[in-house]
This record gives sequence, structure tokens and C-alpha cells, in this order.
Amino acid sequence: MGTFDFQNVVLPAAAEQARHDIRAFLQAELDAGRFKPHRCSWTSFDRDFSRRLGEAGFIGVTWPERYGGKDASTLTRLVITEELLAAGSPCGAHWIADRQSGPQILRHGSQRARDEILPRIARGECFFGIGMSEPNAGSDLAAVRTKASKVDGGWRIDGQKIWTTNAHQVTYMIVLARTGDAGPDRHGGLTQFIVALDSDGIDVRGISDMAGNHEFNEVFFDNCFVPDDMMVGNEGEGWTMVTGELAFERSGPDRFLSDYQLLATLVDEIGPEPDRGQAQAIGRMVAQLASLRRMSVSVAGLLDKGEQPTVQAALVKEMGTTFEQSLPEIARTIAPTEPTLLSDDRYVGALAETVLRAPSFSLRGGTREILKSMIARGLGLR
Ligand SMILES: Cc1cc2nc3c(=O)[nH]c(=O)nc-3n(C[C@H](O)[C@H](O)[C@H](O)COP(=O)(O)OP(=O)(O)OC[C@H]3O[C@@H](n4cnc5c(N)ncnc54)[C@H](O)[C@@H]3O)c2cc1C
Repeated sequence: MGTFDFQNVVLPAAAEQARHDIRAFLQAELDAGRFKPHRCSWTSFDRDFSRRLGEAGFIGVTWPERYGGKDASTLTRLVITEELLAAGSPCGAHWIADRQSGPQILRHGSQRARDEILPRIARGECFFGIGMSEPNAGSDLAAVRTKASKVDGGWRIDGQKIWTTNAHQVTYMIVLARTGDAGPDRHGGLTQFIVALDSDGIDVRGISDMAGNHEFNEVFFDNCFVPDDMMVGNEGEGWTMVTGELAFERSGPDRFLSDYQLLATLVDEIGPEPDRGQAQAIGRMVAQLASLRRMSVSVAGLLDKGEQPTVQAALVKEMGTTFEQSLPEIARTIAPTEPTLLSDDRYVGALAETVLRAPSFSLRGGTREILKSMIARGLGLR
């Protein structure tokens, strides 16, 4: 049977300094009334908050200074993200660009893409969406049918994406498209492109989710031109690009802190004198949270060493979303209430919102079954 490691990683002094700095920034924002702790921090889109965060130097911190970054470690970035999430800050606008599209462009983008796009992301002025899923290509991503055809000076894209979070309000999306034959393993002939959403030939149509929010979309491409230097990596390398990107997407604190506001308000709701059952349940949740955090820190340490901890990232996401999805049921059991979105009570509102959103936690970013099969493969079990 195969194995994989979660090494113990101690946060460096620079990361703890970043914690101090981001906390000061967030406190100043709260004191000035510029945001209220939000129940769904990393899906709350607030371009002004992202711009202020960028101005203060907290976006793209792992990138070189010439691209607007600070040459900081992935561990420092992890500390900044966990503080943003714990505070319930509305950090959804820049989230995908900072977490995965920017790092992807830094590693595999053309010089023009790096020069023109990365500093704007770091300033909190330019946002990204993920153009992977299609109506018949979700878990089976290799079935992508959106097509890119070579033309003079670039490519023409035709096809459709679906579930594209924030496509109606971001600047670019990275589109996975078919550029050649799939080959025997079906992973060939795919290529990623950076597509500006204000290009001709793009039609974005909103989809309402179960909570009534418009976050994701269908995106239709009809003869949409993309210049050659907006290709990511080389032609036909799309599968490798996507796999690398998902290690960034799956292992961060956003995979176990999505409903942190529910946990925090639950603890407040119960107060300083919990009964035995309440104390046990809260203790168990905090212990799980601490373990998940150690695992996530460990993955960040591996990313800093230039490794691609795909299996460990899948494990963090799978265990993290299981934890996140268990919270509303535990909350309902130990502090019963009638959840309603219209309530002014922070606990009641957070519970209502989480009940509606939690089912999606184990779908977005790869479903539970797909992650489990990746973990099984990593262990040599299949
Ligand atoms: C809130 C949210 C935001 C999203 N944002 C984006 C985004 O920004 N960009 C983007 O590209 N996509 C996005 N997605 C799409 C997401 O990546 C897909 O929903 C996911 O990959 C599953 O694909 P599917 O919906 O087509 O389901 P399917 O792949 O059809 O799966 C349906 C069910 O069958 C199971 N299943 C499928 N294949 C297997 C198998 N081989 N073995 C065992 N079980 C299997 C799945 O686990 C699942 O339970 C988002 C989804 C959600 C819910």
C-alpha cells in the first residue's frame, strides 16, 4: 500500500508577523464600519474591500515584488487567508485570482500575461473565474468539449461552461478547451486560455442557487478570439495545468472555515456555561478544526518546497468539507432554533444560511467520490 506524509510544519516568524498585520488591518476596517462579519466570507464579492486589501499589500503576497507581490511564503499567505476567513471579511472578489489563477499565470503564463495581469490582481483591481466545468463534463473533466481553433495571431473559442462562479463580475476566466485529440488516456489535446470577459462572443447567463443567490453562471462562447500570448502553458498541456491548479484550490483554510461564523456564533449562543453534551460537541469540533488546520499548514509547507501534494490536498478538502457539512446538524442539536434568513439574530441567520449552502461544499472543487478515489489511488488501493 502507498503512503503519503503530513509533515509537522512550524509557522515562521514572518507568518506570525503577517498575522499581526492583517489583524490590525481587519480591526481598522471593522472599527470604521467598512464591513460586517459575513456568514460566507470567501464567497462574498466586495470589490472595494479587495481593493483596500490589495492597497494594504495582502493579495498575491507569494509573488515576486516585480509583479506586485512580497516574495512571501505560502505559509504567510495561509495565515493571511485564515485571518480573513475567521473575521468573516468579504474576500470573494479576489479569492480565486489570489488562490489559483495568479499562481498559475506566474508559473505558466506568457511574459505579457504576467506583466499585465499579476500587478492588477495584487492591487485588488482584477478578478478571475474558473472555466472548467461543462454540462457534460464535471467530475469527468476530460470530457470537455469547448473547442479552441487556431487562427491568425490566436485562437477562436466556441462552446459552453457552467457553474462559473462570479463570471458576471470578474475580469477574466481561465478556460479549459479542447485543441486536439484526446489520446488513449483522454487527457491529451486540452489547453488553458486566459479569456477577458469583455471580449466579443461571450454571453454570461446567471443561475440562482438554493439560497437564492446569483453566484454561478453559464458562459457561452461563440467565435471568441483569444490572442496567442493568453495561452497558459503550451498547447496540449491543459490537463497537467488543471491538476497542478487543483492542489492550490483544495488544501487551504477555505475548505474548513466556510461556515466558521456559524461555529463562532454557536459558541456565543451557548455562552460560558455549556452543559456536558454541549461542551463535548464544541470540544470535538474545535479538535477537528485544529487537526485540519495542521494538515493544511503541512500542505502549504510542501507547496513552499515546490512539491505538488495533490493527494494530501484532496484529503484536506474531503475531511474539511465533511467537517463543514456536519456543523449545521450539530448546531441544531445542541442549540435548537428555527433557522430563518430574515432573522437579525446572528446565530439564527448563520444557521439558516449554512443549512442552505452546506450541500454545495462537497461538490465545488471536486466531489466527495472523486476525491476519495484520488486518495485511494494515492494509497495504491486502486
Ligand atoms: C457552489 C459551486 C461553485 C462552483 N464553481 C465552479 C467554478 O467556478 N468553475 C467550474 O468550472 N466549476 C464550478 N463548479 C462545478 C463543480 O466543479 C462541479 O459541480 C463538480 O465538479 C461536479 O460535477 P457535476 O456537477 O457535473 O456532477 P457530476 O460529475 O455529474 O457528478 C454527479 C454525482 O456523481 C458522482 N460521480 C461522478 N463520477 C463518478 C465516479 N467516477 N465515481 C463515483 N462517483 C461519481 C459525483 O461524485 C456526484 O455525486 C461549482 C460547483 C458548485 C456547487
